[in-house]
Amino acid sequence: MRFFSYIGAIAVALSLSACADESPSNEAVSADALALQAHLEFLASDDLEGRDTGSRGHEIAAKYIAAKFKSLGLEPAGDDGTYFQRIKFRRSFLEENSASFTLNTGEDEISLDYPKEFITGPSAYSEEDDVEAPLVFVGYGLVSEAFGINDYEGLDVEGKIVVMVSGRPEELPSEEGAHLNSSKTKFAAERGAVGIINLHTPAREKVRPFEVSVMYQRAPSVRWLHPNGEPNVAFKNIAASAYVQHEAAEKLFVNAPVQLEEIFAQLEAGESPKGFDLGVSARLQRASRHEEISSPNVAAVLPGSDDKLKNEYVLYTAHSDHIGMTKDLSQDDHINNGAMDNASGVSVMLETARMFKESGQQPKRSIMFLSITAEERGLLGADYFAHHPTVPLSQIVANVNLDMPVLLYDFADVIAFGSTHSTLGDTVARAAGQFGIDLSEDPMPEQAIFTRSDHYPFVKKGVPAVFLMTGFTSKTEGEDGGEVWGEFFAEHYHRPSDQPDLPINYEAGVTFTNINFAIGQEIANQVERPRWLPESFFSQLD
Ligand SMILES: [Zn+2]
Repeated sequence: MRFFSYIGAIAVALSLSACADESPSNEAVSADALALQAHLEFLASDDLEGRDTGSRGHEIAAKYIAAKFKSLGLEPAGDDGTYFQRIKFRRSFLEENSASFTLNTGEDEISLDYPKEFITGPSAYSEEDDVEAPLVFVGYGLVSEAFGINDYEGLDVEGKIVVMVSGRPEELPSEEGAHLNSSKTKFAAERGAVGIINLHTPAREKVRPFEVSVMYQRAPSVRWLHPNGEPNVAFKNIAASAYVQHEAAEKLFVNAPVQLEEIFAQLEAGESPKGFDLGVSARLQRASRHEEISSPNVAAVLPGSDDKLKNEYVLYTAHSDHIGMTKDLSQDDHINNGAMDNASGVSVMLETARMFKESGQQPKRSIMFLSITAEERGLLGADYFAHHPTVPLSQIVANVNLDMPVLLYDFADVIAFGSTHSTLGDTVARAAGQFGIDLSEDPMPEQAIFTRSDHYPFVKKGVPAVFLMTGFTSKTEGEDGGEVWGEFFAEHYHRPSDQPDLPINYEAGVTFTNINFAIGQEIANQVERPRWLPESFFSQLD
């Protein structure tokens, strides 16, 4: 799971529907608490050393998952008749002291100080970059027909470096806004820009100081490689990038028709600044070093029973990787076990697979189970599969994603990200209702979680998806589910203490698994495949 470093107020969830009276229809088969515990304790054990992408610990986790698939009699759905889809990745590092940023105002040459005034990441594409071009300010750098936004209107950025403020207008809904925000590079590249400079803002400084970004900038960037060895860099013409500290950014505006101070005032007032030529040029240089690693997705299929529908698939996903060992030597425990993130999701998926196999009712559509690598590096394993699927993507009718179910309390409701965008919302409500569990509204829309886990690369390819998390109410009297969840997030998320000795409620895990099983069962057996709701923004992504 990949959250913002800051989480907003954990609001009390709103109950949408209560259908507790319907009797369960899956009495014949149920998840097993002990099986969930056994999977979780193995996957989150110290021996697997935090399951970092490309590590020996993660390889062992992948082998364990493949062995479970095999023991259930599921068909291999990886490469060459195996359960494994092996992916090559490139790790890119910025060479020490190689980054430079020189501004040419026509009168002066000004060098920005690295990393105090600007930072840059490594290039995944080339080892040496040297770009010199005029600068054009493009506001937020957003384009959306649906929202009537075109920050590039009337601007020529061909062969130029675009300068944009980070973030997005507040009035955009969170999920749609997060999607547009992640498309800024694409908007610039499509218009012929050769570089992107992002401006840190005073508002951003309050949420995440520039210094924090400086701390994290040494981490390598990871990209997956196509089978021909090319890195998945969609926009090769963008050969320069920089993130400029808000006070240093004034230097870029010395010849501008509007001063930076005024731009920041517009942002403060909730207005979207208009673009213009900055009347200066810049030279951006950097050197990058590349390394190759490999790591597998693990895929298996339970074939459907219906002659026609068996060519369609319900896809369950759960990421098996985590963040590895911590470099913080002040603690005794250096292993980020990732018990909730996401040994729990994988355990739920393995139990779901067993339930399908042992329910005695073969589903009409086929079910694919996909354990995914490199989620923590940027949803990379899922993105690779969405680009190189082992079954035709058009035949994947829906994705049910499992990521970080917090199984620490007897939850009374679930939150289903994606449920408002497709017919899967009704499916989730019915499935949860069978077990007396309510479906609640997203209590933290500002997190835009719908764009933050492995289902998202599939959503971008048009596959309707749903992703459940435990809600913020509890069946146990005197227990505040939201408080337990918030405490987990604040104290254990992405830390060595996210480990099997947490007070894990495996009976809650049983309910969570039963609901996710019921969701897949309904999708697999219904006549029509799930559809995007026509009014959903995500129904018409290209
Ligand atoms: Zn995570």
